[in-house]
Amino acid sequence: MIVLGIETSCDETAAAIVTADRRILANVVLSQLDEHRPYGGVVPEIAARAHLDHIDRLVAEAMAEAGLGFADLDGVAATGGPGLIGGIIVGVMTAKSIAAVHGKPFVAVNHLEGHALTARLTDDVAFPYLLLLVSGGHCQLLLVEGVGGYTLLGSTIDDAVGEAFDKTAKMLGLPYPGGPALERAAAGGDAARFALPRPMLGRPGCDFSFSGLKTAVRQKVEQMPRPLPEAALADLAAGFQTAVCESLAGRCRNALKQLSVSHPQVRTMVVAGGVAANQAIRTALTGLCADFDYRFVAPPMKLCTDNAAMIAWAGIEKLRLGETAPLTFAPRPRWPLDPDAVTTQVRAT
Ligand code: ATP
Ligand code: MG
Ligand code: FE
Repeated sequence: MIVLGIETSCDETAAAIVTADRRILANVVLSQLDEHRPYGGVVPEIAARAHLDHIDRLVAEAMAEAGLGFADLDGVAATGGPGLIGGIIVGVMTAKSIAAVHGKPFVAVNHLEGHALTARLTDDVAFPYLLLLVSGGHCQLLLVEGVGGYTLLGSTIDDAVGEAFDKTAKMLGLPYPGGPALERAAAGGDAARFALPRPMLGRPGCDFSFSGLKTAVRQKVEQMPRPLPEAALADLAAGFQTAVCESLAGRCRNALKQLSVSHPQVRTMVVAGGVAANQAIRTALTGLCADFDYRFVAPPMKLCTDNAAMIAWAGIEKLRLGETAPLTFAPRPRWPLDPDAVTTQVRAT
């Protein structure tokens, strides 16, 4: 089984071709960093236009790299949401057109499901597993019991963790995108120099919070001369990153404790989403999993940040179950993984 995947939900335009036996035949990603950099964040209208400008060429590149024609495909998958509506429309229309013209099934993939199932493309990971999804728009702990079987254990009550990285990086005067820049700035910094809070640590439950930490960094920055002295920048970045690691690990610890009672058969923890590229977070979670005798799986960094291989793979997982979508499928800018969950999430400004 061979599936073409298309990803356009945020600021990466991507096309990939993946097989059911877990081979990535092509994986092309075009990041729109240059388009959005002057604004310090993603501008939805610019993103939608850029997707439209590039998607046909990227699909053609992916097909050529794989040495395939559309007739060789078993299905066409696209991100159907959640994300920025303009971009999702571009990807979904492109996938539907290819599917309609070549008589192939169309699969609408939840972008978060793409992140959630990536570990099954890159490693031998069986259901069930605990998933920490940490990305630009989300911070969630989920029990994954099967394709489509997601139970939300906790989520952020304010900022997503990637959002906190990006906003904190901006405060520190680091370039966009902030996450990777902040990780680089933190290298060699003294994490203990500034006292920063560990949000939610020690409290019951698995919800997250990052806005208080972000505010604490801002208060420190406001007491400093501008531009920030190099050492202060490194120390603040290191302090922030360490606080995030400890906060994340503490909340995951609660989830592992909870699961050891309710679902002792769960023995694997997976991290996914763009923030999973962060080495300090990976190290913190590796140690935590060792404490619980859990296997820890983190996909390669290239497949943690947005890409279409994860969409093609989720497409394969869904296609194997017969879960295709009609050509009347409407993009879903909001599309929770666990529709039954009652969340308290509010967007912080
Ligand atoms: P979502 O998946 O929730 O819709 P998104 O698709 O925009 O959001 P991803 O592309 O999965 O998010 O991840 C992007 C985020 O990951 C950004 O916030 C970025 O700063 C963050 N990120 C990437 N690399 C790192 C890193 N090394 N350390 C910390 N954060 C990182
Ligand atoms: Mg992105
Ligand atoms: Fe993403």
